[in-house]
Amino acid sequence: MTGSSGDRVAIVTGGSRGIGRACALMAASRGYKVCVNYINNEDAANKVVAEICDAGGNAIAVKGDVAIETDIIDMFAQTTSQLGPVTDLINNAGILDQEGRLDGFSAERIARIIAVNVTGSILCAREAVKAMSTRHGGKGGTIVNLSSVAASMGAPGVYVDYAASKGAIDTFTLGLAREVANEGIRVNGVRPGIIDTDIHGSGGSPDRVEAMKHVIPMQRGGSSMEVAEAVLWLMSDEAGYITGTTIDVSGGR
Ligand code: NAP
Repeated sequence: MTGSSGDRVAIVTGGSRGIGRACALMAASRGYKVCVNYINNEDAANKVVAEICDAGGNAIAVKGDVAIETDIIDMFAQTTSQLGPVTDLINNAGILDQEGRLDGFSAERIARIIAVNVTGSILCAREAVKAMSTRHGGKGGTIVNLSSVAASMGAPGVYVDYAASKGAIDTFTLGLAREVANEGIRVNGVRPGIIDTDIHGSGGSPDRVEAMKHVIPMQRGGSSMEVAEAVLWLMSDEAGYITGTTIDVSGGR
């Protein structure tokens, strides 16, 4: 995808908080029109949209569960009709659950993590390919998938199911990138380390960044904006010859 970001329309799944919010704000500041997707937190999504519009940008908030196919199709339709054809997808929505061992995890928990993190990302990418691929009459585009360093560490004793879901994302990034490389679409991933967001609260460790910073080579957690910088660079024309790769944003490994 080449051209000014003013022609570009980005969907950010889970754009209401954390890393997705940072990506939405940064994309808008670089001229993208932005769909801020969320599942529950309408106020937070509306605040992101207001912040973008107050700064002269163009954004909409769209509620939808990425684990539900019809919600995804509706999100792409609303974005196309209100902002224009989708040119960029940031597959950011992701969840984890209470820290623990596999022998204590329910089938429902595991299924939900896979449905949101894996199936959701793959289905969003499918709709993006339909919108962007030159094979379907599109003008190309970019997809960035949010993985995690947990994919390379496995997260034993904490959330092996979440780590496995991110391992699937890494493989998906590689495979889809190769599948659509000649159709104008670049597909890359970002693997954040321990980033200061609300997600750690859903694992039962809201203070995880502080508690774990000693194991990080740079001895600190990362910020959502530091992750967004890598995401936006992968989307940019400066990364025009890069596809099928995943960048660690983790303060070292
Ligand atoms: P977060 O602060 O918990 O925010 C999650 C976002 O996803 C929210 O906007 C939430 O919407 C949305 N969301 C959750 N389930 C959804 C669903 N089913 N459909 C649509 N949206 C949904 O998370 P984060 O820390 O920013 O993480 C973002 C991504 O980075 C995730 O894929 C995560 O796995 C990955 N990551 C994070 C870290 C980290 O340390 N933070 C490390 C590695 C990887 P509502 O506001 O409506 O709830």
